[in-house]
Amino acid sequence: MEEGLPRRLRSRLGRWFLRNARDLPWRGERRDPWAVLVSEVMLQQTRVEVVAPRFEAFLARWPTPAAMAASPVDEVVAAWSGLGYYGRARRLHAAARAIVERHGGVFPAEEASLRALPGVGAYTAGAVGSLALGLPLPLVDGNVARVLARLFAVRGDPRRGEAARRIRDLAAELLPPAGAGAWNEGLMELGALVCVPGRPRCLLCPLSADCAGRAAGLEERLPETPPPRRGRAVRMAAALVRDGKGRTLLLRRPDGGLLGGTYELPSAEVGEGGDPVASLCDALHGRLGGRWEVGALRARVRHSILERRIALEAYEVRSSGRLRRPEDSLFAAPEDLVDLPLSSLVTKVLRHTEPDPGWRRNR
Ligand code: SF4
Repeated sequence: MEEGLPRRLRSRLGRWFLRNARDLPWRGERRDPWAVLVSEVMLQQTRVEVVAPRFEAFLARWPTPAAMAASPVDEVVAAWSGLGYYGRARRLHAAARAIVERHGGVFPAEEASLRALPGVGAYTAGAVGSLALGLPLPLVDGNVARVLARLFAVRGDPRRGEAARRIRDLAAELLPPAGAGAWNEGLMELGALVCVPGRPRCLLCPLSADCAGRAAGLEERLPETPPPRRGRAVRMAAALVRDGKGRTLLLRRPDGGLLGGTYELPSAEVGEGGDPVASLCDALHGRLGGRWEVGALRARVRHSILERRIALEAYEVRSSGRLRRPEDSLFAAPEDLVDLPLSSLVTKVLRHTEPDPGWRRNR
C-alpha cells in the first residue's frame, strides 16, 4: 500500500463523516458499550429503519446488563418480537448474564474477554471495543467489506478464502493509531449511504480519487459475492383453534432450534399436490388428538425465511372429541399478543385474522 494512502483516506473519510453521518438513536455523545452491543445485535440481519424505533424502548426497559440479567429470557425474546432471528435475543440475554457474573456488571475493556461473551464474535467485539471502549480493533461487516473490496479492487467472494483474508488485513492495516471507532463507523456509513450495493454513488464519494475499483471500471462488479440461492418453495396450512372466549391457541417452539421459544399456530407442511385441509386435519389430530373440521380460509400469507419461501393458508377449525393440549401452549387474546414472542410469519397471519387492539404496539 502506498505510504501516504491510509492517512489520506482517514482524513477524507473523517471530514465526510462529520458532515454526513445520520442521526441514529445509538449515536450519542457518549458511547455506552451496552447500548452499542444492543444496537449491533439488533442490526445483525435487520434494517436500520426497523431497528431505530425499537432500540430506545428496548434500552429504556433494560438500561444495563444487570437489568437484563435480572429479567427472564422469555421477556427479552417477547420484546424482540418482529425483529426476527430470535436466537440473537437469547444470546444478548446470555451476554448480559456473563457480564454480571464474570465482570460484576462492568463491560470488560479488552478484546479476549469481549470475544468470550456469548454471541460476541470478531465483528461485534470490534464494534463495541472501538466505538465505546477506545480499543484499536478493526471490524468488517457487509458495508465495510464492500467499500474495501471496491477501494482496493479485491477480486473473489469477500466472505470466503483469500478475498476475506485480504479484506481483514486491509481493515487492520488502515486502522488509525487513535480514533479507530470513528474510522470504522465512517467506513460503515460510507457503505450504507454512498458505496451502496449495485450501483455505487461514486460522484459523491470522498475516496473516489483513490478508488482502484473505480479506476479499473469495476465498481459495479465488485464485490464478487455470488448471487443468493433461490429459496425452496414450501406450502403450509395453519389452524386458528379458538377456545370458548374466542382466544387463539399458540404452541411454543422448543428452545434452541429455529425460532426457538417463539409461539406458533398449529400447522402442517403440505406436500407437492397435497390437500391443505387433509394435511392440517392429520397434523392437528397427531398433535392435539380429537377429530377436526376445517372451516373458512381466513388468511393467505407469503414469507421468506432461511432459504424457504413459505406460502401459508390459515383456516378456522373446529374440533370434537377429547383434546390433548401440549404443555407449552396457551390461548391468547389479541391484547396478550404484545407480550408474546411471535415470529414474523405468525405476526403476519394474526394481523389478518385477529381484532386490532394492543398487539400492533409490538411493531
Ligand atoms: S469511488 Fe465508488 S466504488 Fe470507490 S469507494 Fe467510492 S463509492 Fe465505492
